[in-house]
Amino acid sequence: CAVREVSFVTGAVSMDTMPDGRFPEAAFFGRSNVGKSSLVNMVIGRKALAKTSKTPGKTKQYNFYLVNEGDPTNAFYLVDLPGAGYAKVSKGQRLEWERMFGSYVRERKKLRVLFHLIDSQTGPLEEDARLMSSLAGTLPVNEGRGKTQGNRALHYVVVLTKIDKQDGSVPPSVFDRLEQVLESTGLLSSREIPVLTTSAQTKAGREAVWQYLRLLHKH
Ligand code: GDP
Repeated sequence: CAVREVSFVTGAVSMDTMPDGRFPEAAFFGRSNVGKSSLVNMVIGRKALAKTSKTPGKTKQYNFYLVNEGDPTNAFYLVDLPGAGYAKVSKGQRLEWERMFGSYVRERKKLRVLFHLIDSQTGPLEEDARLMSSLAGTLPVNEGRGKTQGNRALHYVVVLTKIDKQDGSVPPSVFDRLEQVLESTGLLSSREIPVLTTSAQTKAGREAVWQYLRLLHKH
């Protein structure tokens, strides 16, 4: 899992301002404060990669980073999605976020892995459940097992963050609730959904995330 270079490519505000689909891509999304920047930086081994999304006025951008540009066989886009579909925004903004997210998941041909970050202390909240429901109708079936439908394999992976806060484990009640929500939204009925546990502080789960990033070059 070597990262030789990482460069910021663009902050896209619409489908047609995204970079061309030369490389496979992996996207990270979750509520604000879930630990997304910290996790991305931990995974990539950089101190401040995902900073751009934090600057005022840029919170709606899909931030594209190109990893390993000089090595096309290992290059990929890492996409940092805005947290703004969540709480604290107006209904209109939330619908706009959901619309763009839906287009992104459906239309982005080289999207291979979608990491949904959820705080391990709270488990999935209402907004997470809503996004899962929308994904249930969008994702190809069986993607959890990595099978392809047509020529596209899209892995949906749940990532429980900040597990150091409970001494490295996740309360069984959080797993139960997660399973309940996945089932009620229809995501679990026809799929296996991988659930990873991570900590940016202890670097727990880094290798598990990389197992999915390595799949980017296997399809
Ligand atoms: P983002 O808004 O989702 O990008 O979240 P950040 O990465 O900025 O993290 C939000 C807050 O949670 C910050 O205060 C981080 O220091 C803290 N945080 C992030 N990851 C971890 C973690 O793995 N463990 C602990 N204990 N705190 C974390």
